[in-house]
Parts: sequence; structure tokens; C-alpha cells
Amino acid sequence: MHAQFQKVISSFAARVGLTVVWEHNDKCMWEPKTKTIYRTDPSDALHEIAHYLVAATKHRTLPNFGLGHDYEFLVGSLREEVTGITALKTEARASCVGIMLEEIFGMDYHKTMHFHSWTLEEYNEAKNKEARDRSLKKWFKIAMWEAENARQQRSS
Ligand SMILES: [Zn+2]
Repeated sequence: MHAQFQKVISSFAARVGLTVVWEHNDKCMWEPKTKTIYRTDPSDALHEIAHYLVAATKHRTLPNFGLGHDYEFLVGSLREEVTGITALKTEARASCVGIMLEEIFGMDYHKTMHFHSWTLEEYNEAKNKEARDRSLKKWFKIAMWEAENARQQRSS
């Protein structure tokens, strides 16, 4: 199951201009110099792609988008540029957009929705807002195209 999603996600990431390395990196999940995402799980990789899509241009050049450490197993210290309420709002947007991408790719997005503590009502409200975002529209379309392409490849 993972491999199937990893393929389509890597392909979508490439369209965004990013590389997904399906390995754990204990220094960062987003490495800006090589525009690389290090994640082993498809949901997590989409969450990082979503972070890239919603991040301010200046934060895209920072490891983990300037959000610092999400996990205690990461070593070293990362610059924290995005903090407080801005960090929370950024995290909520990345969560929503990542789940929307999971939905597009036919993944079990309800699992992530519950894991990120959204109620269905809250998620739908946030989703409607993100779906109207001009800078994201193009990427949702490309994701749908990639998902359809993957479905056709699987059935042929
Ligand atoms: Zn995040």
C-alpha cells in the first residue's frame, strides 16, 4: 500500500519542484538547499509538501520551514522563525492541505484528520477555504491529474 502512494506522491512532488527521500533524516524533515523532504510515511510526506505550498517564500528557504523541531528525536537545533499563533495557524493550514491531498490520492484521510484532531465539520470548513485559495488551485488540479494518471497505470 505504501509503495503505491509513494510513487504518486513522488511524482506530484516533482511537479512542485521537490524531491521526496523515503527515509528518516534526524536533522530535518524539509531540507531547503536540495528542496528535499525526508519522510517514510505517505501521509507525512504530503504534510511536508503541504507545508511547502502554504509557506511564505522566505520560510521555504529554512529547514522545517522555520518551524523548528516537531519531534524530540531530531538532533541539533533549528532556527525557529515561525512561532506562537503564526506557527499554529501554519500547522493547521498544512494539516488541512495535506489531508486534502490525501483525499485526492485516495488515501485513508480520515485517519490523519482524527490524528490531527479535526472534527469533520472543522475540516470541511477549513477545506472550503483552502479550495478557494488562488495559489493552491493549480496544485490541487495537478494532484488530481497525477491521481488519475496513477489509477490508469494501475488498471492497464
Ligand atoms: Zn507540520
